Amino acid sequence: MTAPVRLRPEIVALPAYAQGKPASPEAFKLSSNENPAPPHPAILAAIRDLDINRYPDASALVVRERLAARHGVSADEIIVGAGSVAILAQLISAAATVGDEVVHAWRSFEAYPGLITVAGATGVRVPLTPDAQHDLAAMAVAVNDRTRAVIVCTPNNPTGTIVTAQQFADFMSAVPTDLMVILDEAYAEFVCDESAVDGATLVGRYPNLVVLRTFSKAYGLAGLRVGYAIAHPSIVQAARRTAIPLSVTEASQRAVLAALDHEDELLVEVASIAARRDDVRAALLEQGWQVPVSHGNFVWLPTAAATAAAAAAFADAGLIVRALAPDGIRVSIGEAQSVATLVRVAGEVVRTL
Ligand code: PMP
Repeated sequence: MTAPVRLRPEIVALPAYAQGKPASPEAFKLSSNENPAPPHPAILAAIRDLDINRYPDASALVVRERLAARHGVSADEIIVGAGSVAILAQLISAAATVGDEVVHAWRSFEAYPGLITVAGATGVRVPLTPDAQHDLAAMAVAVNDRTRAVIVCTPNNPTGTIVTAQQFADFMSAVPTDLMVILDEAYAEFVCDESAVDGATLVGRYPNLVVLRTFSKAYGLAGLRVGYAIAHPSIVQAARRTAIPLSVTEASQRAVLAALDHEDELLVEVASIAARRDDVRAALLEQGWQVPVSHGNFVWLPTAAATAAAAAAFADAGLIVRALAPDGIRVSIGEAQSVATLVRVAGEVVRTL
């Protein structure tokens, strides 16, 4: 379609963000790594009586103070955004523009390439290792004078693999200390492996590190759009300057406070999703699938050239999954009732590969 005005050609050429397909009422939506649990009553109560004629607190101060206390940092080391993806966009815009590069793994989170292009910068994709992990050594080698940021996603969407604390320490000592390193930990709460890196404990140690977290997954607030980052106050300040003002709503701020009040209950649900994930993976391995150990709320099926056909087989059985051709399928761990169908269809699909 030709536009009636002059647009940036690289924006016109960008593929639209592909959202997980909506599911029909009787199907299970396992395509967006959402939390299947219904919202906690206290969260619903917290957002019931809002003065929606008023603007929200632009700096989300109460939420920042609460998160700061939890992580043992100051409120000026926390930024709250309309989803962690918004903060990613703010950070990339603050650090990189035309002629600059941003290094990230591939496959990784689908939104990275587009956000980098929108900032005017150039994305540099470093392939995952054959066992679906970040190739941190190759990522460090990809860093040069033009590199303004590196994104490390752990657990990695869509493969579920983690970066260990040791691997991350080695990486940090291999890259320049003035290079922004964004550790995207959207799925941190689903990690059960003690060797995994925990960015929140490292911000004081590495002033160039930004740790990104979200309330969309473990806390079940995807629809309200709220996430946060922990970083050096100067980085937080820069990311605030590239933000769209007032985009974090009062509803999302109140919901975060209520979710933190009831965190123990929410984390029980998270633990049961993690257990379900491990059961699903064990069943898939028995069928002959090669599924990387997943530390997120999803599993990765390397269906390669059969990706579209496999996704169609799941859809026919009422399971909407995320097809990421030509590499594979990401299946979110959803309702307990979806598991039997998931395992049955996977057993049929694996025989066709
Ligand atoms: N990072 C990763 C790795 C993700 O998978 C997602 C959600 N799909 C996000 C960030 C963004 O989440 P949100 O904007 O809802 O916080």
